[in-house]
Amino acid sequence: MKLADVIDLNRVLEVVCDECCQRTPLDPTFFVTRRGLAARIEDIGSTLVCPCCGSHDIELRSTAATTMLERA
Ligand SMILES: [Zn+2]
Repeated sequence: MKLADVIDLNRVLEVVCDECCQRTPLDPTFFVTRRGLAARIEDIGSTLVCPCCGSHDIELRSTAATTMLERA
């Protein structure tokens, strides 16, 4: 999935950590300014670490914004 799709579908990004099981929501527009609309979230995920524990064992996913709100 590309960042353009994430924004078109009104979704948000989240880092899901296999190490500490934290889910950290991220604003996709932040990555658009750095990587452009054509960047793939799989490629961006490979450059990130978990903001909570610093593990590289993470997956970057797109999630419906409403799902995120229900969890809060
Ligand atoms: Zn973690």
